Amino acid sequence: MAAENLDKIVSLCKRRGFIFPSSEIYGGLQGVFDYGPLGVELKNNLKRLWWKHNVYERDDMEGIETALLTNRYVLRYSGHEKGFADPLIDNRTTKKRYRFDHLLRDQTPEVRLTLAQGFDVTDSEDYESVALALLDEPTRAEAALKAAKVIDPEDGKPGDWTEPRAFNLVFKTQVGPVADSESFAYLRPETAQGMFVNFKNVLTSTNRKLPFGIAQQGKSFRNEITPRNFIFRVRELEQMEIEYFVLPGEDEAAHEAWIQDHLTWWVEKVGLKRENLALFEHTKLSHYSKRTVDILYKYPTLGFDELEGIANRTDWDLGSHSKEQDSLGLSANTAEKAMRNEHSTEKLTYFDQPNNRHVVPYVVEPAAGVDRGVLAALCEAYDEETLENGEVRVVLRLPPALAPIKVAVLPLAKNKPEIVAKSKEIKKMIQASGDIRSVYDDTAGIGKLYRRQDEAGTPLCVTVDYDTLGQSRDGGTELVDTVTVRHRDTMHQDRVAISDLLTYIQAHIR
Ligand code: ATP
Repeated sequence: MAAENLDKIVSLCKRRGFIFPSSEIYGGLQGVFDYGPLGVELKNNLKRLWWKHNVYERDDMEGIETALLTNRYVLRYSGHEKGFADPLIDNRTTKKRYRFDHLLRDQTPEVRLTLAQGFDVTDSEDYESVALALLDEPTRAEAALKAAKVIDPEDGKPGDWTEPRAFNLVFKTQVGPVADSESFAYLRPETAQGMFVNFKNVLTSTNRKLPFGIAQQGKSFRNEITPRNFIFRVRELEQMEIEYFVLPGEDEAAHEAWIQDHLTWWVEKVGLKRENLALFEHTKLSHYSKRTVDILYKYPTLGFDELEGIANRTDWDLGSHSKEQDSLGLSANTAEKAMRNEHSTEKLTYFDQPNNRHVVPYVVEPAAGVDRGVLAALCEAYDEETLENGEVRVVLRLPPALAPIKVAVLPLAKNKPEIVAKSKEIKKMIQASGDIRSVYDDTAGIGKLYRRQDEAGTPLCVTVDYDTLGQSRDGGTELVDTVTVRHRDTMHQDRVAISDLLTYIQAHIR
């Protein structure tokens, strides 16, 4: 049985050491989490699979790691200083704060209709448009919200609402010893901007020709109004993003190719079932986007929600970060709407040799959340299996490449020094063979150890027993130097010669 709600996953993560609330002994920090011993392995495995697929297995990609601290002008010209805001509202009675569009989403259709009619919004079910219309006239909105009896989900009663207002999600921090209004930097809200502003550096240092892309993984920070749903919406998040640069005119085909490629990747490599994924075509586009398609995953409790967004951002970004924009032949939208850049020292252009022209490349951006990927992988893998004896076994059926531990070596008797020594020797041998994460564990009886590894998602358990030492109870020695290998998913056991063990393991964790 799959996890019917997120609480099951949260509880497993705490119990087994995947994910903990951050700063927990001081009451935590809202929207911030720490990855524990199993979590860090799972997360690294997911990132490694992504990097392998998107960088190593292609011939048109370069990796990069840019700084988290960001010059203010980067976010001024990217549009984040002005536009990276969510609408916010407070209830004076309950002191609860909400993302305004989400509050409207959670009202009855009748309430939305009343508000929409009062603010000339034609589609009252389009709660984002209703929120935007009210945000434009905050004073009138405050009265309208009271008149429409907008309910606070906290107490189920009509709230005493403040004016809705825009709230910028970017974190600011002080840089250097002197605190004045000029000495601040931003913590990046996405990894993307570091790739745009390094476009020329990567281009000239690698001699790339279009099309080519830059990939980056790393932390980003967003001061989310209501972080919630475990690691789905956090304030300190990790992203895996690609900026894929193409000649104008080649953008639409490249965009479609990335959508299909990543949809397939989530299914084939991360093990998400195709029926638990959906594509969502945005109808209301951001100012920079020509087309945006989200890959949604069906999270328990939440339903379908965004795992990755793939946008065709045209020449918006390189155009916005360039000097002398009027000379660049920018697309009409970028030329009209991008801020005049008075600080950049570069033209982020590409010399298109066959056509003897300088162009500002278009960019396609597949942007995925690492935390949301980890959560999807955990939700998909979680299974409660009822055994023949009625016992319920919790097992994480992770693809072996994602499993935090690949092999656990378990001694049948921890008070038998030869069994312990042999087990440790085997663990060492497996670990020395490469990057197969292997552990030795003798902290409980064998049944309990198996269950623990099932919950950790370990595909194989190797057990060393009396037969391994040639000390079989019936006196037989045919099993000397063999071990039992137990499979997580089927609980099937094989007897394998130690000399064949590495080959056997490699064949089963691929
Ligand atoms: P949402 O609409 O859910 O706020 P977004 O459209 O703002 O997300 P993007 O800016 O496209 O997200 O970021 C790319 C990816 O980063 C998202 O698809 C998501 O997986 C991840 N992401 C964004 N914000 C968060 C967050 N607060 N917590 C965890 N992951 C996030």
